[in-house]
Amino acid sequence: MTGLADSFRRSINYLRISVTDRCNLRCIYCMPSDGIPLMPHSNILTYEEIYVIAQAAAELGITKVRLTGGEPLVRSGLPKLIQMLAQIETIEDISLTTNGTLLSRYAAELKSAGLRRVNVSLDTLKQDKFEFITRSDNNLDDVLEGIEVARSVGLNPVKINMVVMPGINDDELLDFAVKTIDDEWHVRFIELMPSDGAGVTALRFVPVSDMRRRLEPLGELEPYLFGITGNGPARYFRFPSARGTIGFITPISEHFCFSCNRLRLTSDGRLRPCLLSEDEIDLKQPLRGGISLDSLKQLIRESVANKPLRHHLAEGYIPKDRLFSQVGG
Ligand code: SAM
Ligand code: SF4
Repeated sequence: MTGLADSFRRSINYLRISVTDRCNLRCIYCMPSDGIPLMPHSNILTYEEIYVIAQAAAELGITKVRLTGGEPLVRSGLPKLIQMLAQIETIEDISLTTNGTLLSRYAAELKSAGLRRVNVSLDTLKQDKFEFITRSDNNLDDVLEGIEVARSVGLNPVKINMVVMPGINDDELLDFAVKTIDDEWHVRFIELMPSDGAGVTALRFVPVSDMRRRLEPLGELEPYLFGITGNGPARYFRFPSARGTIGFITPISEHFCFSCNRLRLTSDGRLRPCLLSEDEIDLKQPLRGGISLDSLKQLIRESVANKPLRHHLAEGYIPKDRLFSQVGG
C-alpha cells in the first residue's frame, strides 16, 4: 500500500461518503425551505458501488471513512453498508454524521455492523428554536434520546456539533458548555459557513475568540490533547471540572486547510477534493461502464492531485454548484 499525498504534500487518508441527498430536516443554513430537487434513485450510487470505490481508495491509503448525507439514516439498510465497509481490512475507523432524529432507532444495529463513533448535529436545546432552525416539527427529545442510546450501545465518542449562528443560537453557547460538565458531552462549536443555495450569503459567523469569551463564566478552558481528538480540524479544550470536552471548528477565522486530509464522495458518485471548491471527478459513469480497479485508482489519484491549497470563503468565494447537504458537509 502506498500513502496518498496531494501536490502540497498533505497526506490524504480520510474519505467522507455522502450516501443520500435526501433529508428529513431543512436546516436554515443548509437547505432552502422547500428542499432541493432530488436526484432520481438511479443516479445514486448503490452500496456495492460505494464499496468498490472505498476499496480502491483504501488500497491507495484511505484508512478512515465517515458516512454522511443529506441525512444518512433516511437511506434504508445503512448498517449493511457499514458491514461491507468494515470488511475492508485497512479501513480502521468508520464513523457517521447524523442529525440524530432517527438515531435511537438504529444505534444498536449500527454499532453491531461496525460503526465506531458518531457525530450528532444539534444547534439548540430548546424545542421551539429546534423547529425554527430545522424548519420541521421534529422532536428535540428524539435527538437527545438518540445521543443517550448511541452512548449506551458503546458508540464512542458521541460528539455534538453545534453550528453557531449570531442572533439565533449564540445565546446557548453556555448551555451547551454546561453539558460537558453535567452530562460528559463532547461539544464542538462550528463557525457558520456561507451557503448561497441555502440563503446564507454573507459571512455571519461568531469568531472563536468571541465564543471563548462567552464561555468565561464557567472558568478557564484548558487544552485537551487526548483520546477525543479525531481525524478532523477541531481544537479541543475542557473545563477543569468537566469529563466532556469542547472543540472549536473554525473554517473561516482560522482555516485549517494546511492540515486537510479529506476527500469527499457525493451520493451521485462525484469525488471532490475540497468541500469548498467546485472541482469534482465523476466515478459513477466509469464504474457503470466497467472500469478496472487500477483505472479507478488512477481517477482517485487525479482527484487528490487537484486538491486546492485552501478555500477562499473569507475572500467571498462560495461554491455555487452544490449545497452542503449535497456534498455531506
Ligand atoms: N444530516 C447530517 C447532519 O446534519 O449531521 C449530515 C449532513 S450535514 C450537511 C453535515 C454537517 O454539515 C452538519 O453538522 C451541519 O451542521 C453542517 N453544515 C451544513 N451547512 C453548514 C453551514 N452553512 N455552515 C456550517 N456547517 C454546516
Ligand atoms: Fe439535513 Fe443535515 Fe442539512 Fe440539516 S444539516 S438540512 S439535517 S443535511
